[in-house]
Amino acid sequence: MKREYDVLVVGGGPGGAYAAKTFAEKGYSVLLTEKRPAIGVPVRCAEGVGKKLLHEFFKPEDRWIAAEIDKADIIAPDGFKMELEPERAGSEVGYVLHRKIFDRDLIWQAAGAGAEVQVKTRAVSPLMENGAIKGAILEQNGTSHEVRARLTIAADGVESKFSRWCGIDTTVPLREMETCAQYLMTGIDIDPHATEFFVGNDVAPGGYVWIFPKGEKTANVGIGVGGDRCKPGNRPIDYLNRFVKSYFPDGKTIELIVGGVSICQPLPCTVADNLMIVGDAARVSDPLTGGGIYAALYTGKLAGEVGAKGLEKGDTSSRNLMPYDKTWRESYLGKALERNYQIKEVFVKLNDDDLNAIIHSVAKMNMSDFNTLNLIKNIITANPKVALKLGKAG
Ligand code: FAD
Repeated sequence: MKREYDVLVVGGGPGGAYAAKTFAEKGYSVLLTEKRPAIGVPVRCAEGVGKKLLHEFFKPEDRWIAAEIDKADIIAPDGFKMELEPERAGSEVGYVLHRKIFDRDLIWQAAGAGAEVQVKTRAVSPLMENGAIKGAILEQNGTSHEVRARLTIAADGVESKFSRWCGIDTTVPLREMETCAQYLMTGIDIDPHATEFFVGNDVAPGGYVWIFPKGEKTANVGIGVGGDRCKPGNRPIDYLNRFVKSYFPDGKTIELIVGGVSICQPLPCTVADNLMIVGDAARVSDPLTGGGIYAALYTGKLAGEVGAKGLEKGDTSSRNLMPYDKTWRESYLGKALERNYQIKEVFVKLNDDDLNAIIHSVAKMNMSDFNTLNLIKNIITANPKVALKLGKAG
């Protein structure tokens, strides 16, 4: 068995797969290691992604798409529904994917480009030599072995341990770890082309309930709740059960998943000597929506491009990998993360009256003027009390 590679990728989600594919396409030897026995399952995702964002990377295959979404509805605590048509629903409309198929296809693309893939193989520690990362120790079928690599990519998702083992603080404060539960439901009456978001402290304190259609009568119905607000009887699954009982009493549940989404700021630095951190492991999921598919693809691809230059030069020091960190922070992604973090900090402090006032006033906005700046201006004019909270958070 081969034990030396140019690149070792830890984790077979979209971030790891895209990094592996990018390095392999440039002719580098790559091993991608995934601890689960199969790629893409269980799906810990509501599977929504913006059309434009996904198209940055591929023309999607039909088999990836469970539903095409034309609009998003936001339902206020008082039951008022604000309809966001495509122009102003932003990146939250687009596709609901079949991630079981999508994630697997990404790995196939990486393998097709020449990357080796090992499933049911867990990285259990970095391989350190004179304080430098030189690969990892992998465990497969109860035995462990060393794999040496010139560059290691930590793509091990929200539960990421690899970077921490390398000495990087990846702690997410409890209040910034959204805990989620989701049912795949069938036999429910939904608009198959609209996503729905319910906010309010009774339905989802510090988070929201989502309905993401996956066909005519089928949808991911899930909830995220601030980690510090979970109590016995008020865990995400309890909120979800109450919601489902009231909205879809006759629906059938065919799958349950639970998982966490970090809604904190990104890691202060996403490179170290011989190491790059991508996707959820780098804490680049959107702090407002929890979406992280796009960020994982973006950072995975960028890590491949910048890392390949380092390998070519024979210099994978953190200084030489730094353009990766700088580029994503200065990109649309970095700016959106920064802006949405500030909005999220306000959002989690709003009471139901604030949420009602905001949603009612935004619904009156002229669609053609809709952008984040106008949104904030509108909120300030229409809701002085909320404006005060925005000011304090800013
Ligand atoms: P992951 O997809 O988590 O992949 C990491 C992989 O690393 C996993 O397969 C894991 O098994 C593997 N791994 C971990 N440790 C090791 C190890 N030591 N050795 C080997 N392998 C290891 N995002 C959206 O864009 N839209 C949504 O609608 C959406 N809904 C969500 C709903 C829920 C309930 C949750 C929990 C998340 C949701 N997300 C959503 C977030 C999205 O799923 C993630 O942001 C995305 O999967 C991140 O990709 P990744 O490659 O960074 O990590």
